[in-house]
Amino acid sequence: MNINKDISGENMNIILVGPPGCGKGTQTDAIVQRFGVKPLSTGNLLRSEIQQQTQLGKTAKQYMDKGELLPDNIILSMVEQELTEQQNVLFDGFPRTIAQAQGLDNLFEKLQRQIDVVIEIQVPDQVIIERLSQRRVNIQTGATYHLTYNPPPEGEQVIQREDDMPHVIAGRLTVYHQQTAPLITYYQQQGKLISVDGQAPIEQVCEQIISKLDEFLNPQNP
Ligand code: AMP
Repeated sequence: MNINKDISGENMNIILVGPPGCGKGTQTDAIVQRFGVKPLSTGNLLRSEIQQQTQLGKTAKQYMDKGELLPDNIILSMVEQELTEQQNVLFDGFPRTIAQAQGLDNLFEKLQRQIDVVIEIQVPDQVIIERLSQRRVNIQTGATYHLTYNPPPEGEQVIQREDDMPHVIAGRLTVYHQQTAPLITYYQQQGKLISVDGQAPIEQVCEQIISKLDEFLNPQNP
C-alpha cells in the first residue's frame, strides 16, 4: 500500500480504541512499522510492573485480575513519565475514560502536541468473548496467540491471562461499554475518528487501517 504523505520527522500521535481483544495489540506492530510511531500500551507497562513486583505492580494486579480499570491519576502519571517531546506515539489501551482523554489533552497542551487521529476497531461482544477465552500470551515476549486460529509454536511457554478467564471477560466488556466507549463520540466530535471492521482477517484489518489513515492524512486524494 502506498502512503503519499511522509510523516517521518513530524509529530504524529495516534490512539487505538476498541473493546478488549479487538486486535489493538496485533495491529500495533503494523502501524508502528508503517508510521514510525512508538507504541505505548498501558496494559503492557502495568504487566511489566507486576513482573518486577513493584508497588505499582502490586496495586495494578488487584484491579487487573478483576478486570477493573486502575484509577485515572495512576495511569496518567505513568503515561506522563513515558512521554518525551520528540516521540510520535501510538497509544494502545489508553485513554480508557473521558477523564484520561482530558488528562492527555492537558499533558499534550503543555508539550505543544496533539492527538492527530483515533482508530476505532469495531468487534461485537460475542466475538470478543470467543476470542479472549482462547487467547494465550507469552509473558516473556508479549506475543499473543489464539488456540484455534493462531496457535503458539510447539514448546513455547504461554499462559492464559487472569483477566481472560471467562468470568472476568463479561465484566471487562461492561467496563468498556460504560467507561471507554464514550471516547468514540468524544473524538468523533473532534473530527479525529476513523473506524474499521475488526472482524476481518488480521491482514485485511491492517490494510483497512492503513488505507483509511492514508485517506485521513491526504484528504485531497481521490
Ligand atoms: P489491556 O492489556 O490494555 O487489555 O489492559 C489490561 C488491564 O490493565 C485492564 O483491564 C485494566 O485493569 C488495566 N489497564 C490498562 N490500561 C488502562 C488504562 N488506560 N486505564 C485503567 N486501567 C488500565
